Amino acid sequence: MKKHNFYAGPSILPQYTIDKTLEGIKDFAGSGLSVLEISHRSKEFVACMNDTISLVRELLEIPSGYQVIFLGGGASLQFAMVPMNLMNTKSAYLNTGEWASKALKEAKLFGEVIEVASSKDKLFNFIPKNYSVPADADYFHVTTNNTIYGTELKKDPVVSIPLVADMSSDIFSRPVDVSKYSLIYAGAQKNLAPAGVTLVIIKEEVLGKVTRPIPTMLDYRTHIKGESMFNTPPVFAVFAAQQTLHWLKDLGGVKAIQKKNIEKAAMLYDEIERNKLFVPTIKDPEDRSLMNICFVMADEYKDLEKLFGEFAKSKGILGIEGHRSVGGFRASTYNALPVESVQALIDTMKEFESKN
Ligand SMILES: *Cc1c(COP(=O)(O)O)cnc(C)c1O
Repeated sequence: MKKHNFYAGPSILPQYTIDKTLEGIKDFAGSGLSVLEISHRSKEFVACMNDTISLVRELLEIPSGYQVIFLGGGASLQFAMVPMNLMNTKSAYLNTGEWASKALKEAKLFGEVIEVASSKDKLFNFIPKNYSVPADADYFHVTTNNTIYGTELKKDPVVSIPLVADMSSDIFSRPVDVSKYSLIYAGAQKNLAPAGVTLVIIKEEVLGKVTRPIPTMLDYRTHIKGESMFNTPPVFAVFAAQQTLHWLKDLGGVKAIQKKNIEKAAMLYDEIERNKLFVPTIKDPEDRSLMNICFVMADEYKDLEKLFGEFAKSKGILGIEGHRSVGGFRASTYNALPVESVQALIDTMKEFESKN
């Protein structure tokens, strides 16, 4: 039976990426070696790293003055690296979910942190709108897509201080005006590659302004200078990222994928609203994520939750259980998820409705 991959991360990758990665495991770039065993200093891998970085630059239209690097440690390490490198005394955070809270917690190790707004008391089911950001903070941090709760910040915040964003789960899903940001980071395992690599885009002028000593490996400048090869990079994950970026470019880039993402999300939200068994967790359409679509059983059908989960699984629908901290359902509709999979989920929801 065809499997439909709705997992939140690691998550579905394009078939193109899987196929090309398989080829590379057997013979990487005609080198006669596997990508799993080749030296990161080989000319073949250096070319792969350079191509991957230039694809990121091209697809996101990154202006000059910015550096693109690939690091280890996941997005979670960025929670600490950002304040360590950018914060002298004070920073500001918008608390829109579990990842945002974790980022905020790490920043507190390095100075004063202002939580400008939080949606925590409403189970993070909306994006706070009217807040003010202290003008004397060193930067303002946002999480553009809240993977666990299914909200997304679709407009770039307007602030007078450097803007930092965790875009782990919506990078490459839509165009971004990079010039509005001083630093963007994203763990690869949602829209780009298998786990193991983190993309960081940095405006160079924001670096070098803190007084604390920074361990070499945790200093962005080390990795800029080392062209993401200061130490051994995650060769395999970078190679897979290169394939995904080629796939995205051939498909027409971030504008083209955004159009598909909007269509897929609209199909599914429409069905959740129409179907008597389900209700969307996020009420305001403006705040709804196009990547992680969260829903629960309607009150009078709460006892059917487990049954629907099992029914979906029997139809090849995988990974729609909500995050362990929130329950309900979450369908992740990342770039690589085909519209046919969304349709399969909708058909399953309809069939389950007619049976109940
Ligand atoms: C998945 C995710 C993270 C955590 O990424 P790791 O690579 O596991 O550290 C952080 N932020 C967001 C928004 C995420 O979706």
